[in-house]
Amino acid sequence: MVHREPEIDAAQLLSDLDALARIGATPEGGVSRIAFSPADLEARRWVEEAMRVAGMAVRRDPAGNSIGTYPGREPGLAPIALGSHTDTVPNGGRYDGALGVLAALACVRALHAAGQRLRHPVEVINFVAEEATMGGGTFGSRAMAGLFDPAALDHEAVDGRPVAEHLRRAAIDTAQVRTAARPAGSLAAYVELHIEQGGVLASAGIVIGAVEGIVGIRRYAVTFHGEANHAGTTPMDDRSDALVMAAPFILAVREIAVAHGIVGTVGTLRVSPGASNVIPGRVELTAEIRGLDEATLDAAEAALRARAEAAGAAFARMSAKEPVRSDPLIVASVEQTCQQLGLSCRRMPSGAGHDAMCMAALTRQGMIFVPSQRGISHAPDEYTAPEDCVNGARVLLGTLLALDAALDSTGDG
Ligand SMILES: [Zn+2]
Repeated sequence: MVHREPEIDAAQLLSDLDALARIGATPEGGVSRIAFSPADLEARRWVEEAMRVAGMAVRRDPAGNSIGTYPGREPGLAPIALGSHTDTVPNGGRYDGALGVLAALACVRALHAAGQRLRHPVEVINFVAEEATMGGGTFGSRAMAGLFDPAALDHEAVDGRPVAEHLRRAAIDTAQVRTAARPAGSLAAYVELHIEQGGVLASAGIVIGAVEGIVGIRRYAVTFHGEANHAGTTPMDDRSDALVMAAPFILAVREIAVAHGIVGTVGTLRVSPGASNVIPGRVELTAEIRGLDEATLDAAEAALRARAEAAGAAFARMSAKEPVRSDPLIVASVEQTCQQLGLSCRRMPSGAGHDAMCMAALTRQGMIFVPSQRGISHAPDEYTAPEDCVNGARVLLGTLLALDAALDSTGDG
């Protein structure tokens, strides 16, 4: 038998993207496949059938994740998993999630067509309910990584009904969801291709992003106390205006973020009592910073606290989500593959959460980004050029082959 190098079937991948986009298509040109809706379940079945055609054994775990397995040739090696999600936000785009699943499928199809088995089995995972339509998002990957919190069943879904009701309608036994957790060592690696959902790659004209990690997020509540008084009768030099105190701080959030190479946002502002003819007596705002490095976030937080306290404000941390670093071997494999394929590549953080973030609790993980035109996502205008989709899949395949050669045994190679 003639040995053939596995190659992505570009035409098939693009036709798969078209076919999947027809399931749940909206009149605006977008896609609505809210988790557990009829369109979402139809897309899930469509992908499972395509997995079988590509030579994979298909199962659904107790959380509803679809897992296709393509056998390996060395017994005892844990699978390398590739995947993403096919659910969407209401009236979302056709690439977010879908590209990662279909590119993973295209990788296995390439192996199958070349009659080739890797050392490791390869899994394609279509995670369930990644978008935050069922409460907090990443429902399926959380369950698989052993991070499932049963309280999530009582959360309100996007339509106001409890999450548990949606699960039951999709024939998922809510008492069994936690048993979807896989043991440590059951996967050798997880790699996810995803659209960037930001404009960094597109505006820099770079084809591939090697994701160094998913940013940590810290949120703060900051309260400025002034004195409410009549806006007409109180002289300017006799005022204690809480909003005037807050204004320099809002600008400082921007300055401090820029100075530390991170992003920072004031997203909410509550002015009390909130009337045109009353000097603001109290301002409550929330500030958020995101970055990949804990020490940098610490330094930015200290600077924010100092600015707030200098203005007499109360500064309190509301939440802190730690950054999740990509596995260095996976980042290096992505870069090396780009070099071999002659594709431009840049290391970058992911500013949004993904299934890969949860999978980090279970196995080594990494992500590959492709450009989003104008950085638009979660909208019908979401667009990634066909050649970028294909290049992303080629880099995913090259990364898979590199990891298959580099990784030794049950996940700790
Ligand atoms: Zn996504």
